[in-house]
Amino acid sequence: MKKEPFVTKAQIEEIVKTYPTPFHLYDEAGIRKNAQAVKEAFSWNPGFREYFAVKATPNPFILNILKEYDCGCDCASITELMLADSQGFDGSHIMFSSNDTPANEFKFADEIGAIINLDDFTHIDFLEKTIGKIPETISCRYNPGGVFKMSNGIMDNPGDAKYGFTTEQLFEGFKVLKEKGAKNFGIHAFLASNTVTNEYYPMLAKQLFEVAVKLKNEVGCDIKFINLSGGVGVAYTPDQTPNDIYAIGEGVRKVYEEILVPAGMDDVAIFTEMGRFMLAPYGCLVTQAIHEKHTHKEYIGVDACAVNLMRPAMYGSYHHITVLGKEDAPCDHKYDVTGSLCENNDKFAVDRMLPKIDMGDYLVIHDTGAHGYSMGYNYNGKLKSAELLLKEDGSVQMIRRAETPDDYFATFDCFDILKNMKHPEKQ
Ligand SMILES: *Cc1c(COP(=O)(O)O)cnc(C)c1O
Repeated sequence: MKKEPFVTKAQIEEIVKTYPTPFHLYDEAGIRKNAQAVKEAFSWNPGFREYFAVKATPNPFILNILKEYDCGCDCASITELMLADSQGFDGSHIMFSSNDTPANEFKFADEIGAIINLDDFTHIDFLEKTIGKIPETISCRYNPGGVFKMSNGIMDNPGDAKYGFTTEQLFEGFKVLKEKGAKNFGIHAFLASNTVTNEYYPMLAKQLFEVAVKLKNEVGCDIKFINLSGGVGVAYTPDQTPNDIYAIGEGVRKVYEEILVPAGMDDVAIFTEMGRFMLAPYGCLVTQAIHEKHTHKEYIGVDACAVNLMRPAMYGSYHHITVLGKEDAPCDHKYDVTGSLCENNDKFAVDRMLPKIDMGDYLVIHDTGAHGYSMGYNYNGKLKSAELLLKEDGSVQMIRRAETPDDYFATFDCFDILKNMKHPEKQ
């Protein structure tokens, strides 16, 4: 499918008059349309809730848009919990799916009434010692091990993943939790990442539903919800077919009716914790070509770097690039598109066929709305960019300002770097 940016060159030329590149830009209309589709696709399940994986795009403005569609927040750290709490999400709308969890984070999660999803059998004792009880509502993360295979050949490797209880531990864990007073149980699993197939959730659901029936029958637990977690992917490359959330919702409904309904479990709520699917396509990184270099290869240097978007450097991920104003020009030039870090993997694209790029051209790097800004860091003292929201009426709102040197130096409490500069006026 042809990948088209959600902004035009004319719009960007207007935006940069106020906000210099690089920046992440989010598409409010796209976010809303997709959130509505997710809600509709699972509307057959009265208890359904998407707990947006906050780590994907931890921005209060984004969380508040999703909140209008009854989304909750899936948090994995105390700061993510603080963010969710500060935006008025109540405990039932906060899932704490954390691992290797520090005591103070369990404590805070309990204080704000979040649903705690335990990552390990030993965390049962740890949690009880930390907060002095086992909460009435509790969830456990399941990891059946082995490999998870889908019919298109995509697979992932739960047996190699650090997360979750084994099958045996899950049964024992539910038994122990029940003895310690838990009443409402949830099961959670995340077995494959960025799945671009409508089959993943239904396959995962089938496994979890079968386990849920057994847990009910053998341990006598009241299973209230089954959390399919994240892992629903997006089409980063033009040759992929985007997932159809309606087909995914129907697929889950089908196995629900096959397995849970006959077992008398027709009141189990389905939860999801999607991050990527909710946001990735509705964000882009906008950057400007500032250098061209002709050496052993052809390089285009842009004003963004891996600090703004780490996925290509970290995983070799493909992110589609559009040169604004040259959408229909032939892709007859081969470039490496690089950032300025002292790291040779700081490349947004390698050997990519693109239209001829001129200095000053604006490049849109697609699908950065999830795990984009949020994975950023400050290597080389590079500062993180602004985040902007393209609103439905076409106006632009800054939803996070760009970092300044003050932000970067703020943690050196005993050195006032800026005050001690010999040329403070010249930054
Ligand atoms: C990362 C993560 C998610 C979101 O994953 P996506 O691939 O962005 O959908 C959800 N739940 C947990 C526990 C995670 O770690």
